[in-house]
Amino acid sequence: MKILVINAGSSSLKYQLIDMETEQAIAKGGCERIGLPGSFLKHKGKAEKQIDADMPDHKVAIKLVLDALVNPEYGVISSMSEINAVGHRIVHSGEDFDKSVVVTDEVIEICKNNTELAPLHQPANLTGIFACQEVMPKGTPMVAVFDTAFHSTMPQKAYVFGIPYEAYKNFKIRRYGFHGSSHRFVSEEAIKYLGNENAKIVTCHLGNGSSISAIDGGKSVDTSMSFTPLGGVPMGTRSGDLDPAIVEFLCKKLNFTVEECVNYLNKKSGVSGVSGVSSDFRDLAKGAAEGNERCALALDIFTYSCRKYVGAYAAAMGGIDCLVFTAGIGENDAQTRLAIASNLEFMGVKIDEAKNARRVSGINDITGEGSRVKVLVIPTNEELIIARDTANLVG
Ligand code: AMP
Repeated sequence: MKILVINAGSSSLKYQLIDMETEQAIAKGGCERIGLPGSFLKHKGKAEKQIDADMPDHKVAIKLVLDALVNPEYGVISSMSEINAVGHRIVHSGEDFDKSVVVTDEVIEICKNNTELAPLHQPANLTGIFACQEVMPKGTPMVAVFDTAFHSTMPQKAYVFGIPYEAYKNFKIRRYGFHGSSHRFVSEEAIKYLGNENAKIVTCHLGNGSSISAIDGGKSVDTSMSFTPLGGVPMGTRSGDLDPAIVEFLCKKLNFTVEECVNYLNKKSGVSGVSGVSSDFRDLAKGAAEGNERCALALDIFTYSCRKYVGAYAAAMGGIDCLVFTAGIGENDAQTRLAIASNLEFMGVKIDEAKNARRVSGINDITGEGSRVKVLVIPTNEELIIARDTANLVG
């Protein structure tokens, strides 16, 4: 069975064609600048190919992707009918879905109704579905896999905020959490590795966007991202948690509308805003090594905030058995892993510095000698979760 995984953004569209026998991507790539001048498709199949072509909308982009997949020179299949189903990444399930679902007209309607919870991403995600419906053979099954669904197991005490309950009931203002497919993938891998399905795990998805989750017995019981992906630890360009009164104060000081202020917190803040240099941890490490104090401060703020979340979730679950690092920073930045785990010896977390510094394919067990808690680096694979759910639902 071959599953096409689609992750449609507002001006981009990433894809992987996954062969479920091997669970390997046989082709992958992405379209960029959809709807803008200079759009192009980068494809990796039998060979690598960049196709510069006009992409006024997602329908044209999908058509180009499908053409690339069947191309005799760099494609990997001989006809579109070899694609058994399509799995779509959809950001928000609201409170309507607690797992992946087959796409129907009713599902699309519910997703549309949740647009106000993710006004930038949800419409773009849905465009991916519409484009496939138009361009692919009629009846090709499609599945929606939600970023939020894995966190639907959180108890009320973790997701209801300390504001009037009517705000939750009337306007659905609550913690939802994001990066669900990633937290789910790495926690499932950790459970397999530990051979303990009751394990208490803290998963740190640290990338351009970062979130930390508490997973008890395979279920998410708390997570740092919140009503939107702006909450939690400071990120590449996002502020993370703040005193909400700062919004009004900033609006007055900088003459912002509320929208401008939220944009400032989303795009101009985080480690990029603190350092004034970059959102990329490689640049920050270089800057800090060269004596740039604001780069060093940005890294300190990030690792301190992550360490506090790890401690908080250990307290919430009554201890942890396993700490997992994943995503761009979590998988590649040994220094940041070490900084987050330092001073956690009191709760049984110790890293082996040599193992932490090495690169291995698959799981890197970096647990130090005498550590009560297993510390693992696990490469995430959100596309595989989407493909697995799709294969399971379309059978
Ligand atoms: P992601 O959003 O998961 O793709 O992560 C992207 C981020 O990972 C980049 O912005 C960098 O900050 C970070 N990153 C990627 N590779 C490295 C590396 N080798 N060392 C440090 N940070 C890295």
